[in-house]
Amino acid sequence: MGVILTCREMTELLTERDEGTLSGVKRAQLALHLFVCGRCQSYEKQFETTVGLLKKVGSSTPADPPAPSAAALFAQLKAEQKK
Ligand SMILES: [Zn+2]
Repeated sequence: MGVILTCREMTELLTERDEGTLSGVKRAQLALHLFVCGRCQSYEKQFETTVGLLKKVGSSTPADPPAPSAAALFAQLKAEQKK
């Protein structure tokens, strides 16, 4: 990998950056490539939008059912004692 990345390497770094595994050197290389390459600038925007959308969709999926409230647990306990 040279100092100036190829566009292909650049897309790989974007993925790494999203995963949070990008080292400081690569981060600088990424910024440098974006500085000199207009095509990747628009690619990065597109990438960020897509990732952002995916994260939104991911976070809107139903979470685990809420834990039973203390009152519900207490009622259950009382019911158990009556047996
Ligand atoms: Zn490029």
